[in-house]
Amino acid sequence: MKSPDGSLFPAHISGWKNGQSGQQDRAILGITKLHQSRDSETFNVLGDIAHAGRISMLGEMTASISHEVNQPLGSIVTSAEAGLRWLSHEQPNLGEVRTLLERIANSGRRAGNIIAALKGLARNTKPDRKAVDIAALIDEAVLILRSDLSHRQIALRLELAPDLVPVWIDRTQILQVLVNLVTNAAQAMADGQAWNRTLAIRARKDQRRVTVEVEDSGPGVDPKVRERLFESFYTTKIGGVGMGLAICRSIIEAHGSTIELQSSQYLGAQFSFSLPTEPDADGLAARPLLA
Ligand code: ADP
Repeated sequence: MKSPDGSLFPAHISGWKNGQSGQQDRAILGITKLHQSRDSETFNVLGDIAHAGRISMLGEMTASISHEVNQPLGSIVTSAEAGLRWLSHEQPNLGEVRTLLERIANSGRRAGNIIAALKGLARNTKPDRKAVDIAALIDEAVLILRSDLSHRQIALRLELAPDLVPVWIDRTQILQVLVNLVTNAAQAMADGQAWNRTLAIRARKDQRRVTVEVEDSGPGVDPKVRERLFESFYTTKIGGVGMGLAICRSIIEAHGSTIELQSSQYLGAQFSFSLPTEPDADGLAARPLLA
């Protein structure tokens, strides 16, 4: 970039879209001057950029949240009003009232699920990175979901490399990622044949990071769904919230990696990510998820 006095300086330019579809889109552009000679300052600047990105994500999400929570609330009010009308008839139609009460309960549950998912995202805003045994953490995730997996008759294959080293992570957040991915995998296989329900979880050392894979033998991810997979509140499930993968993505990005998806109709879906093995393996690892 060129400064007003004509001298050149290195800069980081970031941009993101801000706005809901249907409204006029706005783009925010950030230009941050980088100091080549002062490493620590550059580090802080990069940290601030990541921080700004998270703030923008939060702003974008707030708009979606009010939209998503308003929808079940509106449905509760409409159903309650309709129920009252049915009750005021000379011969109240209790069948209709029952249907409406069920609808109210479902809408209430959906609003509650949305709030619970958000609490998950806001939890642990302070970074709490420690050296963690990833094999033990995977065991813990499997233990949490054990009854769900056996109920759905899913065979589990754990492929944990013998030379795994501890990873430097926020334990609760990565447990949340594993639980989300395994839950999605189990749900994706629910409609398949019982003999073909296999969940594989792998972990192996890759240079200074550990790669984790969660693979299912479900139908894979439809290319149309794939484009929107990580969007907040995008779901194809009845009663789904669509926050699981959005949360996974921001947690994994805060750990200096990205979530990759390999998917095919025949082999199912495989989500993978990597985790740092040292505190400063990536400069942003010590930053909070949301600030
Ligand atoms: P939710 O589980 O509430 O729908 P997610 O963000 O976790 O929210 O997932 C978004 C969507 O991604 C799901 O509704 C589903 O369509 C798709 N998806 C996620 N994981 C898988 C998987 N393992 N196989 C196929 N589709 C998946």
